[in-house]
Amino acid sequence: MKKCNYHTHTYRCMHACGSDEDYVISAIKGGYQVLGFSDHAPWNYESDFVAHMRMPLVQFHEYAGSIRKLKEKYRGQIEILLGLECEYYPRYLPWLRQFLIEEQVDYIILGNHYYESDEIANQYYGNRCKEDLYLQRYVEGAIAAMETGLYAYMAHPDLFMRGRKVFDDQAREASRQICEAAKRLHIPLEYNLEGAAYNAACQIEEYPHHEFWKIAAEIGNEVVIGVDAHDPASLEREDYDRQARAYLKGLGLSILEEVSLPDYRLLR
Ligand SMILES: [Zn+2]
Ligand SMILES: [Zn+2]
Repeated sequence: MKKCNYHTHTYRCMHACGSDEDYVISAIKGGYQVLGFSDHAPWNYESDFVAHMRMPLVQFHEYAGSIRKLKEKYRGQIEILLGLECEYYPRYLPWLRQFLIEEQVDYIILGNHYYESDEIANQYYGNRCKEDLYLQRYVEGAIAAMETGLYAYMAHPDLFMRGRKVFDDQAREASRQICEAAKRLHIPLEYNLEGAAYNAACQIEEYPHHEFWKIAAEIGNEVVIGVDAHDPASLEREDYDRQARAYLKGLGLSILEEVSLPDYRLLR
């Protein structure tokens, strides 16, 4: 079995700690053979908006350079990939496509955090999905994103439960639609360990939510375990990983270790 993690942040997003190399060292200690960096994507905003949870676009080359340098330095010990966690912003999709090709990004994962753009205030799905309209937008955006073929997998697909709180009929229907689309499009869904740690620390159940994963098991989705590391130490702890594996296997879900990455050169 090849141990892989495709969901890793860096200090550039302003809510993660440690140096890039610290994540690599921790990943090696944690037994990983593949470490994908997927820091929160910068966007080429039309407005002068400055985001506080992602690097600005001007910092991207420094990020890419640092990750590529580590890829060389640790060749033979661990495979390092350059990725990004990207939202689905339809108006910036043509730009994103070009950017992925030009910058030779290895992969992106879908982090469906905001509706349309975070330039607009109060669009965080983690709050707004308590409203049926936003839950519907979350689902539609997720499916449209998966249909682009750009995203290697969908991170924390049950993020909407952070706002929803109660797993009601609409949440059930939303989950079903996301899982069915992912299955149809052969896109794995991520069981998020950062969320599992947050649930445990706060004694709540937001995401991952067991009702969502029951539906994923019924539909037969492929699951990827994502550390969503914002601290190098997360790559060294084995408890959440072990619990997640036992839990998902118990549901009858198949855990995908290595994710097949999209080839953006084909978009040229
Ligand atoms: Zn983050
Ligand atoms: Zn995320």
